[in-house]
Amino acid sequence: MSKHDMPPPEATRSNTPQPVRTLRDWLDHLAARDRLAVLKPNTRLKFEVAAYSKRLDGLRATVFPKPDGHPIPVVSGLVSDRGWMAEAMGVEPSEVLAHFQNAAENPVPWQEVASGPAQEVVHRQDRGALDLAKILPLPTHNEHDGGPYIAAGIMIVRNPKTGKQNVSIHRCQLTGPNRLGVLVLPRHTFTFQRMAEEAGQPLDAAIVVGVDPLTLLASQAIVPLDHDELEIAGALHGRPLPVVKCVASDIRVPADAEIVIEGRFLPHVREPEGPFGEFPQYYGERAPREVMEIVAVTHRKDAIFHTIVGGGLEHQLLGAIPKEATLLTHLRRNFSNVLDVHLSPGGVMRFHLFVKIRKTQEGQGKNVILGAFAGYFDLKHVIVVDEDVDIHNPTEVEWAVATRFQADRDLVIVPESQGSKLDPSNRDGVGAKMGLDATKPFKAPEMKFKRIYVPGEEAINVADTLKQGGADWRSALKS
Ligand code: MN
Repeated sequence: MSKHDMPPPEATRSNTPQPVRTLRDWLDHLAARDRLAVLKPNTRLKFEVAAYSKRLDGLRATVFPKPDGHPIPVVSGLVSDRGWMAEAMGVEPSEVLAHFQNAAENPVPWQEVASGPAQEVVHRQDRGALDLAKILPLPTHNEHDGGPYIAAGIMIVRNPKTGKQNVSIHRCQLTGPNRLGVLVLPRHTFTFQRMAEEAGQPLDAAIVVGVDPLTLLASQAIVPLDHDELEIAGALHGRPLPVVKCVASDIRVPADAEIVIEGRFLPHVREPEGPFGEFPQYYGERAPREVMEIVAVTHRKDAIFHTIVGGGLEHQLLGAIPKEATLLTHLRRNFSNVLDVHLSPGGVMRFHLFVKIRKTQEGQGKNVILGAFAGYFDLKHVIVVDEDVDIHNPTEVEWAVATRFQADRDLVIVPESQGSKLDPSNRDGVGAKMGLDATKPFKAPEMKFKRIYVPGEEAINVADTLKQGGADWRSALKS
């Protein structure tokens, strides 16, 4: 057993057993742990907000009071660490995937309330022309981004036939005073928009900005059509999510949200959107996209605007955890000996999957590789390792490849298969898959692949040992 597989000592266990239910509670939680940086007022919305967010990514969430003098502050970097997400859930880091799987399989219906803080202030198009850039502090992130974006809004739409809601995150570019260009990939929002469009109708939509990390995570769940992801948020919260009806549509939105932008997708209208800095650290292209006309904005009296900087850890983690949970469920259907999976940061938490198995048969590693590729088309490289390797530590995985993998025997290549359109190295989403079986032979002599181990190493308290310092080394040796 490696030291990475040891259960955490009691002292380091999370002391936040309750799930976090609002953005404000989460900011309090971060502040109490010295993980919140509050900048001086008047940070520039163009580039400067993103620059600070990026440099503090993984270290601190960032609060920007009065950006460009705007009364509404901006926050970024809410969840830049898997351990933080575990705390938001009120579980251990090792339990994050199982906890999310459980919530996705046991959703909790929301509860409608008559009013909520999300509607304390109401701006309506029919009572005066809306100018989104005046109401909200909309940042521009990257050098070549097409303009200011709403990047961390959960979009809620309803199935025009069943009324069931869908929740997902889309990049939304400000293209006019009350107009957004929205990237709608062919998933559930797309399906509802096309249903409305074929009937010549607009599709009502609400973009909710400023929710807790668990609601953000729930929005990324991979569940069937007509499963309202707000019910997964309720399961993660451990109680029904309070929702209010929008002022201009029948959409129900989280009552405790900071800001709600209400509007509708215009049928048969497409306008240019992009470029926009995306998760693989490249720009998503400028192209004709769906257009949303804004008809109302509601917000708290002292609202906070959340932005996610593309390609940062917050962006990657919010997508990765639900995908890992889904892949783990998928693999375990056929391989009960799969112990854990991880979409690694170096693989932009989409393209590289590390899988830990307890090998029980020769050849299993390759079957698991093929199973993983069948489970998620964005996967490009899969590495399978034994249970003594920490898949959350890329150096450990590289060590397994260095010492247990032979390219002529353990390599799987699948040419000309479907991949991510955001991988610039393939041809419009068609490219190769590569699998590395870095497990040791099932019947190897015991000592040949046994990791070296120093008895007692895991019991040493490194922090205490370091406190002793080295300045007095001469006198220490004399005494
Ligand atoms: Mn959905």
